[in-house]
Amino acid sequence: MQRKTTSRRATAPLKAHSKCGLRIADCGIRSGSFAGYPLRLAGVKTDKTLLSVNNIEVIYDHVILVLKGISLEVPEGGIVSLLGANGAGKTTTLKAISSLLHAERGEITKGSIVYRNARIDRLDPSTLVKRGVIQVMEGRHAFGHLTCEENLLTGAYTRQDSRVAIQRDLEMVYSYFPRLAERRHAKAGYVSGGEQQMLVIGRALMAKPQLILLDEPSMGLAPQLVKEIFDIVWRLNKEEGVSFLIAEQNATVALRIADYGYILENGRVVLDGRGATLRENEDVKEFYLGLSTAGRRSYRDVKHYRRRKRWLA
Ligand code: ATP
Repeated sequence: MQRKTTSRRATAPLKAHSKCGLRIADCGIRSGSFAGYPLRLAGVKTDKTLLSVNNIEVIYDHVILVLKGISLEVPEGGIVSLLGANGAGKTTTLKAISSLLHAERGEITKGSIVYRNARIDRLDPSTLVKRGVIQVMEGRHAFGHLTCEENLLTGAYTRQDSRVAIQRDLEMVYSYFPRLAERRHAKAGYVSGGEQQMLVIGRALMAKPQLILLDEPSMGLAPQLVKEIFDIVWRLNKEEGVSFLIAEQNATVALRIADYGYILENGRVVLDGRGATLRENEDVKEFYLGLSTAGRRSYRDVKHYRRRKRWLA
């Protein structure tokens, strides 16, 4: 995978990982189908780039520079994680890709975003949805007054296919999320947080996605539910060929399923590499997974922690 990050800070750690380029061939993708989806990827071993973000800068309100030259790639059929603390710029990156920045008075002032070999950074969000790029926003924005099933059907709003095809996909979503099948007639506002998270992912699936931009799916959920959701995401990727770009603060769960990861700090990529490589990186362990060679650190240790991250050296 070619990297285009220009910041000096980012370059050093990137070099260290430059041999770790992700190839879908390494990811063990199996064959599958998705109820009539054009999922050419399922079962196809490829290292083709689906999405590339090239050195983008994003400014809010004409003055607040938030992204300072972010570059990343998502290969076809891959799961890529975007990791970082609060305010690192993960959501902004996803919104830049899905063209949702305008609503927040944000704009891309530099760089480009290419999806399936075509520039998409000037497209409107609805065109992107039709092309298969769907964002699942942070905070589980379901329509609370609609039932779960009605919420799922709103995901198919832009589709032209028959009711039979939509019904088939609805059943497919229920097969991945049996809890939603049980709660199909319940108002979305009254189901649990975990079920709402499943609902918004299911709704994205109803739009026939090729790439899902998933923002903080673990937020506020119990560890068991987080595991359940990430397991389903992994299955959707492996069995249905849907690609994922997942923004997460919870690096432990994200790196468990990610083929590749990028760590953002203060609007820049400071480290990237294959999921397995990042999991073994000492700085990632200490600063993002809460582990060190001496084991898990206590809050007190972290509070008094003085060593600088190697990528800042
Ligand atoms: P979180 O996990 O808290 O969502 P994040 O990594 O997703 O963090 P962003 O939400 O992208 O980070 O925010 C990056 C920076 O941009 C933060 O400093 C934030 O305050 C700022 N920011 C985000 N949205 C806006 C906005 N609409 N107007 C001005 N500044 C914003």
